[in-house]
Amino acid sequence: MFWAEELLQGKIKKNLINDAWTPSGIIHMGGLKGPIIHDTLSRILKIQGKDVRFTFGFDDMDAIDGLPQNLKESYGRYMGIPICNAPSPDGNGTFGEYYGNIMRDLFKKLDISAEIYLASDYYRNGIYNKAIEHVLNNADKVRKVYSDIYKKTIERDWFPLQVICPECGKIGTTKVTGWDGLEVEFECSKSLVKWAEGCGRIGKISPFNGLATMPFKLEWASKWWIFGVTIEGAGKDHASAGGAYDVARKICKDVFGQEPPIPVPYEFFLYDGKKMSSSRGVGLNTNELLEVISPQMVRFLMIKTKPNLAIEFNPYQTQIIPKLYDDYQRFAQLHKIDPRSEGGLIFELSQIGITEKVSSIRFATLAQWVQMPNMEEKIKKENLEKWAGFARIWVDRYASESEKFNVQKEIPKTVNTLSDKQKEFLIIISKEIDNHLDPENLQKYLYDIGKDLHLSSKDTFAAIYISFIGKDHGPKAGWLLLSLDKNFVKQRCIEVSRI
Ligand SMILES: [Zn+2]
Repeated sequence: MFWAEELLQGKIKKNLINDAWTPSGIIHMGGLKGPIIHDTLSRILKIQGKDVRFTFGFDDMDAIDGLPQNLKESYGRYMGIPICNAPSPDGNGTFGEYYGNIMRDLFKKLDISAEIYLASDYYRNGIYNKAIEHVLNNADKVRKVYSDIYKKTIERDWFPLQVICPECGKIGTTKVTGWDGLEVEFECSKSLVKWAEGCGRIGKISPFNGLATMPFKLEWASKWWIFGVTIEGAGKDHASAGGAYDVARKICKDVFGQEPPIPVPYEFFLYDGKKMSSSRGVGLNTNELLEVISPQMVRFLMIKTKPNLAIEFNPYQTQIIPKLYDDYQRFAQLHKIDPRSEGGLIFELSQIGITEKVSSIRFATLAQWVQMPNMEEKIKKENLEKWAGFARIWVDRYASESEKFNVQKEIPKTVNTLSDKQKEFLIIISKEIDNHLDPENLQKYLYDIGKDLHLSSKDTFAAIYISFIGKDHGPKAGWLLLSLDKNFVKQRCIEVSRI
């Protein structure tokens, strides 16, 4: 059974799926795993005819606590400011909107049908007021959860809230030290965090209507409580034992007296065994990924493996991408046989709009075709133009040298390694090539002549590869020769045989 169906077995009829993300930087490919997993769960519930809503929050009240490399200098003064209050790097709107729009575009491309909301709207519109009042009134219970999980004493002057400093506008630097039922006492500290410095202001302020936010573990639990979220997953960074997910779940139970949502912990994408990170430039970002695989295949990649298994994805000089295409084609086949089978369902849940017709030509073959001249017609006939674009990018950026070949304009130097028998073989090709139109037949014909000449099959085809691409291996020779101009083939074979 598909993991997502198993997870949802026997669940309540009315569901609210929620996920959230902080819009503060370029999204690496692993950042799509949460949205796609949640969207998949939502699609399954819809297929099952259940009542489901899928909401997705942009946590834009968070402080800017790190910056993309290109903004490190110019945006240093915004460190500690809420994301929704700093300007956009391109001058249009806010910092949060800039990155949020990138995610909105990805949602469109990947057909992720979530209702997007902004945390700043929820705070400013007073939707969280009830939760803020509740956590302040029950600060002792929150402290107890923290001290139980972290095994340390939490001081009585710590309150689960941060205000936006009315003096310097920072939120990452403030701490709340008291609560009288109407206002909180706060301090904008110079040394609370290493990445930003507060202005030192001490004062009292209302915590409501967007003037303050809860720490994100509290905000998480508050959301579950206020909206009745039934399903919300978390990536490994939060979902490990004693992590933020555990804290939020315990707060939900102990502070709000409510059962937390169904847990869906999911693992990272790895790059050579390490966690991908856009800020450290490890792994692929979403643009790079979508340049080499289709949106359908991005969905497929995110859901075909159980969420709690890490996926290694270093596509450089590996077969990871061609293998993904092979898998996708295999699952398309399973879908054809039985759309309700596990594989069939995974394929269906990867689709965007109408179910796509998947070619049976392997990506590895296509990656050879795009390197041969005169294959455009063939690619068009097989309806592979879109995948051919991906294949070209794969060859350029990711394929190992042994998979790249160029038909050489000049006679390659390596032809001096050819034997007399191999040269004899080339002369026969020059005489016979005009009689051939079908690559399969030509392939067989070449093999047979080689055999007649007592050449091994390796030496037979090496004669062609060495003469045309300067390597001792290459794509299927029948296809290669017929992709070239026949006069060029004849001339090259004759010239090489005379050396
Ligand atoms: Zn301040």
